[in-house]
Amino acid sequence: FNEIPTGFPVPGKTTVYDGSETIDPDTVALNGGFLIKTLVLSIDPYMRGKMRDPKIQSYSPPYYAGKPLDNYGVGVVVRSDNPAIKAGQHVYSVFPFQEYFVDTDPKKYRVLENKEGLPWSVYVGAAGMPGQTAWYAWQEYSAAKKGETVFVTAGAGPVGSFVIQLAKLDGLKVIASAGSDEKVAFIKSLGADVAFNYKTTSTREVLTREGGIDVYWDNVGGETLEAAIDAAHTNARFIECGMISGYNSTEPYGIKNATLVVAKQLKIFGFIVFALASKYSEEFYRVVPGKIAKGEIKYTEEAVVGLENVGEAILAVQKGTNKAKVFIKVADA
Ligand code: NDP
Repeated sequence: FNEIPTGFPVPGKTTVYDGSETIDPDTVALNGGFLIKTLVLSIDPYMRGKMRDPKIQSYSPPYYAGKPLDNYGVGVVVRSDNPAIKAGQHVYSVFPFQEYFVDTDPKKYRVLENKEGLPWSVYVGAAGMPGQTAWYAWQEYSAAKKGETVFVTAGAGPVGSFVIQLAKLDGLKVIASAGSDEKVAFIKSLGADVAFNYKTTSTREVLTREGGIDVYWDNVGGETLEAAIDAAHTNARFIECGMISGYNSTEPYGIKNATLVVAKQLKIFGFIVFALASKYSEEFYRVVPGKIAKGEIKYTEEAVVGLENVGEAILAVQKGTNKAKVFIKVADA
């Protein structure tokens, strides 16, 4: 991480690739720790929020200029001096954006058994933090009833696409949007009843034509949230997962129809995935990788090869020019 951006992050300025410091995996001292080789790293929307003045408190620690970025990753233990973690094991945690690193705290890592033989990248997508976000919060907040209607924004991403599938399993009518025709085609393939490109079709018109909504899974905030409030039925549930339309703007967006929250008795649930982990994570790892392996939960992903392309990948996710869940492929095995 190099410099706090104003607006969208700028590859090569906000973040820089620095190959000057290297670790020799054969000789680096472990001092009771273990050496991890990074295989895949996730690129997620919330990384933009970490590019802030470190004095500003938030749910996730800031990035510090001159220090590596970090985010969810999967790697393989190459050498270990620690009895709790063994060479050859694959592990998941928050990783520094480095090809190799030494750590001393095994408790930070989940050992992935991967009996299903999924690609490791899936463990930072549908079987990782984004999938957990959908799985945990849908169960916790949707109060889904068969025959109700849900609206899902950023429907082609790892969170939205998972939510669409959970809602269909619960028997809801699903309306979902995304920002390209290719993404809309993916949403349709997941079984969404109504799928549209919000850049070429009015969200407001679709929600009105479809008779309103009982649940809104909000990934974008802003004007779309206003349209959802206008279209909400009495007692509708709003699952406030993210507001990406505001992540790169300097002016906060003011919701103009908030009085309808009272009039329609809307239930609004803001959440951060970690807060629900103790309740749902064991069930998630027991059930979800198997469902993915059987094709019962579908996903798409887009590999960006090499740490030198991280800046472009971060920007693509913020702008929506990505095609699917983005991960950095650092090494094959
Ligand atoms: P995605 O991979 O779907 O990437 C974000 C997508 O947001 C982009 O691809 C783009 O898709 C869309 N987007 C970008 N700008 C806008 C805009 N101005 N208006 C509408 N859509 C926009 O992301 P994830 O599935 O990983 O995450 C989805 C949301 O969930 C994010 O808001 C994220 O911050 C949030 N989140 C929240 C968590 C929590 O704990 N609360 C945990 C994980 C994620 P498109 O082409 O469709 O515009």
